[in-house]
Amino acid sequence: MADYDVIVIGAGPGGYVCAIRCAQLGLRTACVEGRETLGGTCLNIGCIPSKALLHASELYHESHDTFEKMGLLGGEAVKVDVPKMQAYKQSTVESNTKGIEFLFKKNKIDWLKGWGKITAPGEVTVGDTAHKAGNIVIASGSEVTPLRGVSIDEKKIVSSTGALDLPDIPKRLAVIGAGVIGLELGSVYARLGSQVTVLEFLDQITPGNDLEICKALQKQLSKQGLTFVLGAAVQSAEPGGDGIHVTYKLRKDDSEVSLDADVVLVATGRRPTVEGLGLDTVGVKLTERGQVKVDDHWKTSVPGIWAIGDVTPGPMLAHKAEDEGMAVAETIAGQHGHVNYGVIPGVIYTSPEVASVGETEETLKAKSRAYKVGKFPFQGNARAKSYFMGEGFVKILADAETDRVLGAHIIGPQAGELIAEVCVAMEFGAAAEDIARTCHAHPTCSEAVREAALACGDGAIHA
Ligand code: NAD
Repeated sequence: MADYDVIVIGAGPGGYVCAIRCAQLGLRTACVEGRETLGGTCLNIGCIPSKALLHASELYHESHDTFEKMGLLGGEAVKVDVPKMQAYKQSTVESNTKGIEFLFKKNKIDWLKGWGKITAPGEVTVGDTAHKAGNIVIASGSEVTPLRGVSIDEKKIVSSTGALDLPDIPKRLAVIGAGVIGLELGSVYARLGSQVTVLEFLDQITPGNDLEICKALQKQLSKQGLTFVLGAAVQSAEPGGDGIHVTYKLRKDDSEVSLDADVVLVATGRRPTVEGLGLDTVGVKLTERGQVKVDDHWKTSVPGIWAIGDVTPGPMLAHKAEDEGMAVAETIAGQHGHVNYGVIPGVIYTSPEVASVGETEETLKAKSRAYKVGKFPFQGNARAKSYFMGEGFVKILADAETDRVLGAHIIGPQAGELIAEVCVAMEFGAAAEDIARTCHAHPTCSEAVREAALACGDGAIHA
């Protein structure tokens, strides 16, 4: 008999959730993880530590920006103690990684400590020990994609990992890439006092998001002091000049421009982690983009080997990986695991937050699908205005004929929380009218979602 029914390789959100679900379904489960702590990139050096720094820096910014407006005096005296802020961040991380360790024990999942390699179908070797399993789930995640001409030292030229651990607040921070990481970490340091310049190859920030939202976000972040250079292809970043010398080409005229910064953050994307897993040995096929190739049920080209999360195609999002982790566990257990890829929300944790799900206006136009737009500004929402957060809006896209909700895009307070309502509505195949006829508590920011849904019909009340 094999040692395990399932061995999961990687204990990030995809892998650890998969392992827990496997164990809950009665499968003998082990999870291989080489880091000192469980939780993968997300918990250790990604989502969770960045959210801690975003929270702390937002409160710092509020103390200087809005406290006085609310009659709270003395906010300007609030100072940043970087080591203490780092310790707060680390304690947040530790409480979560320890939580996963507790869940592994509770569910009787063996943590195989070390880096796992598939040495034969049904066999994973960790260190010197070969473990046999009926099923292997690859959940090895992703790593920073290197950028030509820029070598990361995690001190002055950093990826998100180094940016989360800077010992001081840089006076000048250059961010390469206006994607999610660039904007979230750029926001942290802008709030803490850095001059932040974001260099983006494309002519817009956060590609893939609804264009109207991208423009609104850029406007808001510019107001907060971030400088954007769009259409800028970074060529090099190396020590020199006054700090780190960054050169970039402006795509519109091919002219070469440069700037000096104290720290450069490289945030130009991530690639799947496939090295060292022994995939060639057993014949697991990759896509042209180096991801593990899977079918609709997360099966790789080798029977008994499955793959989920960032190492496979699709958005590199922790919650997408978690959903796949649960679904693949259910499939292995003989159930009917399913993930609805049409309803995977995306959130950018800037201030204001941005959240989206489903189709954008651009994707609908490309499909020639007739749609209507229901839009509501947070200016008409009393709760948002009391937070000085009246600038954003909710936009719901619904089918022109059936009124079925096709997508939603929110920029504003608590956008990441508000989108969940639309996700549930979409899972149930709801029409905008269903959201519009649902009673929403007053005063809440969620009323803006209802108002946007009303705007798909006879009109919003407060606009
Ligand atoms: P990204 O793909 O989101 O953005 C990278 C940006 O860099 C793009 O806009 C791209 O055009 C630009 N770029 C690429 N090469 C460039 C160059 N030479 N010069 C200038 N700009 C260049 O990547 P990311 O922000 O590094 O994030 C990596 C992954 O992690 C993404 O898939 C993201 O979704 C995920 N992530 C998600 C969250 C979240 O959900 N809140 C947070 C962090 C990371």
